[in-house]
Amino acid sequence: MSNYDFDLFVIGAGSGGVRASRMAADFGARVAVAEDRYLGGTCVNVGCVPKKLFAYAAHFAEDISDAQGYGWDISDPSFNWSRLLQNKNQEITRLNGIYHNLLTAAGATLINGRARLQDAHHVVVGDKTYSAERIVIATGGWPFIPDFPGREHVISSNEAFFLEALPKRTLVVGGGYIAVEFACIFEGLGCESRLLYRGDLFLRGFDQGVREHMAHTLNAKGLQLTFNADVERIDKHADGSLRVTLNNGETLETDLVLYATGRRPHLDGLGLENTRVKLDEKGFIAVDEHYQTSEPSIYAIGDVTDTLQLTPVALAEGMALARRLYKPEDYVPVDYNDIPTAVFCIPNIATLGMTEESARAKGHKLRIFESRFRVMRNTLAGRSEQSFMKLVVDKDSDRVLGIHLIGPDVGEMLQGLAVAIKAGATKAMFDATLGIHPTAAEEFVTMRTPTRED
Ligand code: FAD
Ligand code: NDP
Repeated sequence: MSNYDFDLFVIGAGSGGVRASRMAADFGARVAVAEDRYLGGTCVNVGCVPKKLFAYAAHFAEDISDAQGYGWDISDPSFNWSRLLQNKNQEITRLNGIYHNLLTAAGATLINGRARLQDAHHVVVGDKTYSAERIVIATGGWPFIPDFPGREHVISSNEAFFLEALPKRTLVVGGGYIAVEFACIFEGLGCESRLLYRGDLFLRGFDQGVREHMAHTLNAKGLQLTFNADVERIDKHADGSLRVTLNNGETLETDLVLYATGRRPHLDGLGLENTRVKLDEKGFIAVDEHYQTSEPSIYAIGDVTDTLQLTPVALAEGMALARRLYKPEDYVPVDYNDIPTAVFCIPNIATLGMTEESARAKGHKLRIFESRFRVMRNTLAGRSEQSFMKLVVDKDSDRVLGIHLIGPDVGEMLQGLAVAIKAGATKAMFDATLGIHPTAAEEFVTMRTPTRED
C-alpha cells in the first residue's frame, strides 16, 4: 500500500472515469473520483441517453401517422414538450443514482467538485488537497462554437436538453452526428427544421452511398438541408426570434440556432500547466498506447484524448487501464478496428469498418453489394421511404470490410453483424447463412449480385 491518500485519483465521473474507478476499486485499489457537474458524464446527462429518449419521442410522430394504414384511428394527437422534459429529467436522475451506487458499492470515494492538478501526485478539490500515486484525467469534451457576430444567441447540445419551450423554427449548424440527430429530433417533434452545413454534403467520413441516400431521405421528409453555406452573423429581434445571415447572401428567420460543430477536450482550469502533461497538435491530451501522458503518474482516457468520441470507446479504455494497472493478468488492449456506430437520426444510420472510398484508397479490389428497398412496415403505412444496405467486400479474400445501413433500427441490426465481422466473416459466410423471414435484416444474406465489381 502506498503512502498516498489514494492509489488512483480519477478526475471526471463520465463514461470512462466511472468505468476506470469502479473496476480499479473492484480490483482492490483505493480510488477517489471527483465530479463537478453530473454523475455519468456527457452520455447520461447531455448525450447518448437523453438524445435517444428525444429520438424515440420524435419517432412517435411517424408511428402515429403510420398506424392509420394499419387500421388505427388516433384522432387529434398532440405533443407536450414539458411532459417529455420532466420524464426525461426523472429518468436521468434515476440513472445518476445508479452511478452513485455503483461507485460507492465498489468502494470508490466520490468527491463532489471541480478538480485541479497541483502537481504530478496532488489534486485540489475546493479547499482540500488529495495525494495519489496515480491520476486519471477523464474530463471528456465540451461543445466547440466558432466565433462570429451574434455567437451569444446560439445554443449547443448541452442547452438543447433543457429548453423551456419547443421553438417553432429551428436551425442546426453542422453536418456531423449531433447536427443530423437534432435536426431529425426537431423535425419529428413538429418544428420547421433546417440543417446548415458548410461543405457540399453532410456526414463527412461516412460512406458516400449513405451520405447521398440520407440527404435524399431527409429532403423527402421535408427537413430543409442547406449545403455549401455558413453563418456570417446572427441578429436578435425584439421578440426573441433570430435573423441569420449566411455567407451565400441568404438571410433566414428562425427561433433557435443550435451549433453542433464538434467538441473539444474539456481542460478548463485543470491545472495541466502544473505538470509535464503535453497536448497533441489538435489540442487533445497526448497519451501512449497505455493511456499514459508525458507525466508518468498521470493517465488520460476518453474524449479528452484523440480517440473516437463514443461511450463504448471511453468505457473500454477505462476498463483496459484499470486492468493493466491493478489486474494485469486480465489485461486486454482495446481493439480499435471495426468499431460499429450508429447515428440516431430518423431513420437510423449504422456503420462499421471501411467505406467504399477508404477501402479503395487502401488499394483493395472490391465487390460492392447494395440494396435499396421499402421495409414491409412501410407498405400499409403508405410510406415510400427506402432503406439502404451496403456491403463492401474484398475481392481477393472475400472478407466483408464494411457494412453501411440506413433504415428503422439499423443500430440494433448492426451490433450482431459486428461480431461476425470481428470473427473475420467472408461474403460466402453471409451467403451460407439462412435469413429470418420476414425481416429487413434478411437482406444481408440474400444480396447475391454485386452492384459493382473491380
Ligand atoms: P464525459 O462523459 O464527458 O465525462 C467527463 C466528466 O468529467 C463530466 O461529467 C464532467 O462534468 C467531468 N469533469 C470535467 N472536468 C472536470 C474537473 N476539472 N473536475 C471534476 N470533474 C470534471 N456516444 C455514443 O457512443 N453513442 C451516442 O449515442 C452518443 N450520443 C451523444 C450525443 C451527444 C449530444 C453528445 C454530446 C455526445 C454523444 N456521444 C455518444 C458521445 C459520448 O457521450 C462521449 O463519447 C462519452 O461521454 C465520453 O466519455 P468521457 O468519460 O470521455 O467523458
Ligand atoms: P462531428 O465531429 O461529428 O461533426 C462536426 C461538424 O461540424 C462537421 O460537420 C464539421 O464539418 C462541422 N464544423 C466543424 N467546425 C466548424 C466550423 N467552424 N464552422 C462550421 N461547421 C463546422 O461533431 P458533433 O459535434 O456532431 O459530435 C461530436 C462527437 O460526439 C461525434 O464526432 C461523435 O463521436 C460523438 N457523438 C456520437 C453520437 C452517436 O454515437 N450516435 C451522437 C452524437 C455525438 P466538416 O465535416 O466540414 O469538418
